[in-house]
Amino acid sequence: MADSPVELPGRLAILPFRNKVLLPGAIVRIRCTNPSSVKLVEQELWQKEEKGLIGVLPVRDSEAAAVGSLLSPGVGSDSGEGSSKAGGSAGESSKQDTKNGNEPIHWHSKGVAARALHLSRGVEKPSGRVTYIVVLEGLCRFSVQELSARGSYHVARVSRLDMTKTELEQAEQDPDLIVLSRQFKATAMELISVLEQKQKTVGRTKVLLDTVPVYRLADIFVASFEISFEEQLSMLDSVDLKVRLSKATELVDRHLQSILVAEKITQKVEGQLSKSQKEFLLRQQMRAIKEELGDNDDDEDDVAALERKMQNAGMPANIWKHAQRELRRLRKMQPQQPGYSSSRGYLELLAELPWQKVSEERELDLRAAKESLDQDHYGLTKVKQRIIEYLAVRKLKPDARGPVLCFVGPPGVGKTSLASSIAKALNRKFIRISLGGVKDEADIRGHRRTYIGSMPGRLIDGLKRVSVSNPVMLLDEIDKTGSDVRGDPASALLEVLDPEQNKTFNDHYLNVPFDLSKVIFVATANRMQPIPPPLLDRMEVIELPGYTPEEKLKIAMKHLIPRVLEQHGLGSTNLQIPEAMVKLIIERYTREAGVRNLERNLASLARAAAVKVAEQVNTLRLGKEIQPITTTLLDSRLADGGEVEMEVIPMEHDISNSYENPSPMIVDEAMLEKVLGPPRFDDKEAADRVANPGVSVGLVWTSFGGEVQFVEATAMVGKGDLHLTGQLGDVIKESAQLALTWVRARAADLNLSPTSDINLLESRDIHIHFPAGAVPKDGPSAGVTLVTSLVSLFSNRKVRADTAMTGEMTLRGLVLPVGGVKDKVLAAHRYGIKRVILPERNVKDLSEVPSSILSGMEILLVKHIEEVLNHAFEDGCPVRSRSKL
Ligand code: ADP
Repeated sequence: MADSPVELPGRLAILPFRNKVLLPGAIVRIRCTNPSSVKLVEQELWQKEEKGLIGVLPVRDSEAAAVGSLLSPGVGSDSGEGSSKAGGSAGESSKQDTKNGNEPIHWHSKGVAARALHLSRGVEKPSGRVTYIVVLEGLCRFSVQELSARGSYHVARVSRLDMTKTELEQAEQDPDLIVLSRQFKATAMELISVLEQKQKTVGRTKVLLDTVPVYRLADIFVASFEISFEEQLSMLDSVDLKVRLSKATELVDRHLQSILVAEKITQKVEGQLSKSQKEFLLRQQMRAIKEELGDNDDDEDDVAALERKMQNAGMPANIWKHAQRELRRLRKMQPQQPGYSSSRGYLELLAELPWQKVSEERELDLRAAKESLDQDHYGLTKVKQRIIEYLAVRKLKPDARGPVLCFVGPPGVGKTSLASSIAKALNRKFIRISLGGVKDEADIRGHRRTYIGSMPGRLIDGLKRVSVSNPVMLLDEIDKTGSDVRGDPASALLEVLDPEQNKTFNDHYLNVPFDLSKVIFVATANRMQPIPPPLLDRMEVIELPGYTPEEKLKIAMKHLIPRVLEQHGLGSTNLQIPEAMVKLIIERYTREAGVRNLERNLASLARAAAVKVAEQVNTLRLGKEIQPITTTLLDSRLADGGEVEMEVIPMEHDISNSYENPSPMIVDEAMLEKVLGPPRFDDKEAADRVANPGVSVGLVWTSFGGEVQFVEATAMVGKGDLHLTGQLGDVIKESAQLALTWVRARAADLNLSPTSDINLLESRDIHIHFPAGAVPKDGPSAGVTLVTSLVSLFSNRKVRADTAMTGEMTLRGLVLPVGGVKDKVLAAHRYGIKRVILPERNVKDLSEVPSSILSGMEILLVKHIEEVLNHAFEDGCPVRSRSKL
């Protein structure tokens, strides 16, 4: 490598270098095959005694040229071994016509003088063509003054671009240059040290750094790594030292960064690889260890076990095929793979579903079934009779597709327990599917497996849980399903309950049909009205109205108390609840149609008793056992309240013997108050609430059975508007309008105003409120109650507190029949109301009301609203005879 500037001749033979740049200090190996280059090498280098210099001038390739299509393919150049593609627009270049005159080549205007370090000549075999391989070292930059042809190659008149020695020495003093070269060296050093870590062969480069002048180093470094042709050209064009150094620093730094980034990526990939490899190795080892231990429950065996389970599930042939396909997919997956667990969960479901498993139905003994129904349920004669009929039909024709039984009634009247009795009578398993609040069709039918976290619907899930295909399935609260944007669960239920369709019930998750035809469906609902008619059409409704207090008392004494005691580990020797107390609970602590709260209250008493009994047992045991063994140790322990009992009771000691049967705890009023709190209801409520004019007592029907509903009306200064509050539906609002209209129209007849042409609403507003403002209310049966309330308000007379009423009213004042009469009468009875005003046409419904209730009540049947008013006020309603219209 020449450190001292080279003697540059005035003319140089020019070797075109296609898409490449030879920089000073760099060494390239060029294979010359092109006839003109071969000629050049031959004449200028090979045949000359003293090897001279040649000029290497970059030439743009046709594609890389700015006007590439103008280039002649005939004029070629030689390229270094391995070619690099150049991109970008043309740099500084001159166009020269070739000897054929019309096709210009893009010569670059600057080049590098080079000397040949090595030459070798070869002859291509079949063609006999001569080729040369030249190893050239770049020496210094020159610029082309003039380019001319000498024979088949080019010769240029050149001028030197690099500085002379003195110029250099002067330039080196430049402080800017000093800073730049320091910067360059630092970057170069960094690159070297990074390379050094990767490959140990860069020692030589380090030496260069100390010996070679920095302006040459810049070229050498840049030449040593791959950069684009454009960048190479711009490096060649950087004649000015400062420009050259800063360009070189930038390029070296970029190269360094790219190495570092590549390194980081490799490390990451290697890290990941080695992690999974490590995991794999560990798994292999674990498997080996398990095999050694004879413990074979690894994933492979797990899948095999799953397959066995699937084989035993008795799937139909087509489903078995489907399952096997899924199993094959599972086998190909790694347990860590995302789809693995969902695929597995699906197969588990397939394996666990009762495709064939049924509970053996024993010969149905109707008498035994009746006995068992009677044993579990008090009363309900008609309902039990209907169930027996249903069972009888099943006995005669086991595959009969009778209608689905649907028990309708308020909560706690025994709907669920009747359904489970049916299962018991048929010796089938029982499963309850709660449909309350189901708004999404997917709850019934499942989500497709494409969704994350998808699940089967409630029916399929229920069948998996009971694991027989012929259970009694209770569709609980079928009236509480609603439909919204997520689909209509009722339509899915239709399919379930349709004997024609449920043979091939399609759950979206399961995605293969499942036969539901063996399931016996029973439904429950609180009210019939919200059940969609097509669904209702498939069911046979059995209504269970609420119980009378007497019925409740009987149920409590015969069924609830024994059950509650047993659930709390008590016997009648521990706790006795006398009938009178149960009556009190029914009257004062519960006001419901069913017996659910009653049962809850009884359970509270049992819990309280259980605590007492448990305490008693403790003290008795201690008292008996301590006497013979009084030691100081024991005494001190006793004082501490420690676990003495464990120390003194011998192992074989029978706990039940340890206390002499103490007298049973008998519930009295004081205990009731202590455990259940002060009474929640009393008979005086109605009287208190109707203490002012404008309040009347209505009877309504809700999903909890019958209820007493007060209606409050008041008047204030205003413009004759009607305000209604209490979460009212449209029908009830219209009833209120209607009532007001009727009262206004009949104001004179009712003695509310002196003459009929006086406006009753003159400068006043009316506000009607239905208390329990948070509970939504609707229906027409409040008509008569509204009128009564308004008449009471306008006449300023109180309504009788002992009278409740129900009935729809027409604009002409006729009273129309309403539903739920039994529930309403029972509700009135619960409130201690003695008189009930009913539409006359409801008389037939009274047969459902137990005579014990009716005997203590006065039922007033009416046809016209005036009769209602007459009954509602203490001394009747003095209605004037109607003026003839
Ligand atoms: P529902 O399903 O109607 O809400 P449940 O069937 O859950 O009511 O009944 C609530 C509780 O009351 C159960 O413990 C049930 O056994 C009991 N029960 C209801 N009616 C009777 C009855 N007639 N005889 C005996 N127990 C009853």
